[in-house]
Amino acid sequence: NSLTKTFHSLRPPLNLPQEDTPLSVTEYAFSLRANSPWLDSVALINPVTAQRIFYSDFIRKTNHLAGYLQKVTKLSKNDVAFVLPPNSIQVPILYFSLLSLGVVVSPANPVSTESEISRLVQLSKPVIAFATSSAAHKLPDTLKHQAILIDSPEFESMTMSSKYEIDRVTVSQSDLAAIMFSSGTTGKVKGVMLTHRNFAAQVAIACSFWQQRDSPAVMLYTMPYFHIFGFFYCLRSVALSEVAVVMERSELKKMLRAVEEFRITHAALTPPVVVAAISQDGLTEGYDLSSLEGVVCGSAPLGKDSIAAFMARFPKVVFVQAYGLTESTAGISRTEGPEESKHWGSSGRLSWGLEAKIVDPETGDALPPRKHGELWITGPVVMKGYIGDVKATGETLLKDGWMRTGDLCYIDEDGFVFVVDRLKELIKYKGFQVAPAELEQLLLSHPEIADAAVVPYPDEEAGEVPMAFVVRQVQSQTKRSPINEAEIMNFVAKQVAPYKKIRRVEFVNSIPKSPAGKILRKDFIKIALPSRL
Ligand code: AMP
Repeated sequence: NSLTKTFHSLRPPLNLPQEDTPLSVTEYAFSLRANSPWLDSVALINPVTAQRIFYSDFIRKTNHLAGYLQKVTKLSKNDVAFVLPPNSIQVPILYFSLLSLGVVVSPANPVSTESEISRLVQLSKPVIAFATSSAAHKLPDTLKHQAILIDSPEFESMTMSSKYEIDRVTVSQSDLAAIMFSSGTTGKVKGVMLTHRNFAAQVAIACSFWQQRDSPAVMLYTMPYFHIFGFFYCLRSVALSEVAVVMERSELKKMLRAVEEFRITHAALTPPVVVAAISQDGLTEGYDLSSLEGVVCGSAPLGKDSIAAFMARFPKVVFVQAYGLTESTAGISRTEGPEESKHWGSSGRLSWGLEAKIVDPETGDALPPRKHGELWITGPVVMKGYIGDVKATGETLLKDGWMRTGDLCYIDEDGFVFVVDRLKELIKYKGFQVAPAELEQLLLSHPEIADAAVVPYPDEEAGEVPMAFVVRQVQSQTKRSPINEAEIMNFVAKQVAPYKKIRRVEFVNSIPKSPAGKILRKDFIKIALPSRL
């Protein structure tokens, strides 16, 4: 019967706020923090300057900035703010100010190129932008001139002045909190609409995992603030009264030094960082890492061998595997406690409040435990849809609240989720999304390229790198264009953010396609890379 084929979360229940109570996620996070035993602990640390911001100051600065943005900049509820955030301690202050005003935050990678940014801006339609002085020049003219520079003395003074009192804004949980960018299950980038309720649900889930401690957890924070992982952790940290040590980049040596210097208890990492940490002999010698209690790793797959090696090297550190999507406001499942981490290859059990189905992609039938199929989920973390894209929304959000993840998974009898492969067309370079269709379009714009397909190629350091299969243009009856690999790679590199660069090229005579003209990517990977499967 179909009921046995719906997997329910096995986590203990918890209280979510009443759905129709007006509540922004910032109010919710602060209300949870009010129960904390550490009412004025440190909220944020810049490890380079050792600057600390206490929670009392964080709240004051957030209110001052919100007052300025409301009274001087005239931002109001439902306005969209485009943010190219650096990883700095100013960003949580900005996010909390905007969200408390009901302004919708639309964050994007600051290394994006001008044309990439202009596409994102067309999707989320912001009225204002926030960026650092080094990235602001890439904004479209309409936003460039009144952009607020996050790293300027003016921004600092906006957070310092109590001149502007905020008029309280009523935010419903169903109001939009963020528009984040993801290519979802198909090629082009889309704006994922996430509500205050979506984030509140994730915050509530995080609090349910929280365990009594004698002092606040100190979180090493390297996940980018523009990605759902970093955005959500920013909210979660406040709800749990954590200390966030915000690093600009994940450089291993600096991270190790920060663990020692700031007595870091927890770190959220991406798989390439974990792989680097275990592959270098002697790397951790000379550092006092005894404060480290737990590491959470997510946003791309991490192999069983790497997890085992990490646990052998750091036997006292609890290793948590987490799996999620932008479209599910981050986490869908995670391992909890040392025993669950030993379910090798699993991304843990379904989070509270979620239900899942494993669906046969061919027949649409729900499958029993251990059978491979597409993971569908439903629950309060499921996005509202893709902005301005009814078609893509309809293809992803289905009847009765089910959302397709585009991931090939199975769930075992104990409720552990295993991510086996990706059905959707997506490459993850160091945890960052690269949409193959975007690169294919660029390649096809080159006059010497007749056809192209881009697929993920496995890479030890990055997880996957974009690889292009290229058909050179015919120039005469017997000759094709002499264009070479380096020229193709340079042509693309000039037009995309560095993480999207094509890093391998192979020339072929044709690209296999379905009768409808769709690139047969899976077949292609099999033909081109037999050793991979
Ligand atoms: P994003 O929206 O950028 O977070 O990308 C979501 C996608 O990343 C998922 O649909 C998966 O394909 C992949 N992903 C995230 N976490 C994991 C994980 N723990 N294991 C395997 N794949 C993952």
